[in-house]
Amino acid sequence: MEECLFCNIVNKKIPATFVYQDSEIVVFPDINPKSRVHLLVVPTLHVKSFLDLQDDQFVVLTKLAKVIQSLVKSKKLENGYQLIFNGGHYQHVPHLHWHLLGD
Ligand code: AMP
Ligand code: ZN
Repeated sequence: MEECLFCNIVNKKIPATFVYQDSEIVVFPDINPKSRVHLLVVPTLHVKSFLDLQDDQFVVLTKLAKVIQSLVKSKKLENGYQLIFNGGHYQHVPHLHWHLLGD
């Protein structure tokens, strides 16, 4: 997966400041933020898109959601936040990820 931008970030071949990191998930700021807080929540597992998730991989969505719930609280975004994942022509990086935006 050398050619995958987010795999390269996960593997620390491309720099990013990790806000959260464990064996399954990394979180780092979007390089082109659309709001005061704009984080990318990325599974370490390479899955191209939501539609490519296999039955035995859906568990990663639960893990992502748990990390996001903690981030909403720790970043004090309870009064205004958005969760977005893009697909098809809306998705520019072909490695599953969730955007967490808030102010
Ligand atoms: P999407 O269109 O959902 O695939 O979003 C990809 C996001 O990745 C965009 O919001 C980009 O600004 C962001 N992005 C691209 N390269 C980097 C990078 N090196 N570090 C952090 N975010 C990035
Ligand atoms: Zn990847």
